[in-house]
Amino acid sequence: MRLVIFGPPGVGKGTQAKRLAQRYGICHISTGDTLREVMRSGSPLAAKIRQFVDNGQLVPDEVVAEIIERRLIQPDCRKGFILDGFPRTLSQAHYLDSLLKKRRLLLDAALFLDASDETIVRRISGRRVCPLCGRSYHVEFAPPRVPGRCDDDGEPLVQRPDDEPEAVKKRLEVYREETAPLREYFENAGVLVSIDGSREPDQVEAEIVEQLEALYSPM
Ligand code: AMP
Repeated sequence: MRLVIFGPPGVGKGTQAKRLAQRYGICHISTGDTLREVMRSGSPLAAKIRQFVDNGQLVPDEVVAEIIERRLIQPDCRKGFILDGFPRTLSQAHYLDSLLKKRRLLLDAALFLDASDETIVRRISGRRVCPLCGRSYHVEFAPPRVPGRCDDDGEPLVQRPDDEPEAVKKRLEVYREETAPLREYFENAGVLVSIDGSREPDQVEAEIVEQLEALYSPM
């Protein structure tokens, strides 16, 4: 199974991508998570990336392209993959297309998860992350066992710099200008699956699974 999941920031792509990866035994490739890992590692690339990510801007295409290419050849991607946060622009979508063509692979579905601005802002403003391991929580919907502390390592949780109001405004702008046009792109490619992302994670997952199964079931 080869999937893409896209939609506005904070809509729950990461949550659903992790669930689907586990359900179908495919690898979860999150460009955002990978970029945050690089930033935590303090490697020479970290400072360069940080200036884009923390301000809600897109990092250069060649950086994310390298992440995708390296990850796709790992053994856990043998049965398929779910790309979370990639592609985010039309040029990245064209790049993915050529990458898959080269490997004679087809995309099964591009899951478009959507929700109202109000829902998105509520989800983003409550999100907290562990600066040490990157695990993500939500003060209301997925709180840690001890308030403000990571369940795994006890580290005090923080807000992602790009979850601060100014950066969120920028991310929404970038989303509308650069990422939203992917709907039409994937629709034309015949792989678009639209999902209402405003409901509880279990309900969203059930709808995705139902729609994916409908794609595979004989008429
Ligand atoms: P996410 O965790 O998917 O919300 O991504 C967080 C940030 O990482 C984005 O706001 C961008 O700065 C960067 N990023 C993630 N994926 C991409 C991508 N495909 N192209 C460019 N920048 C990306």
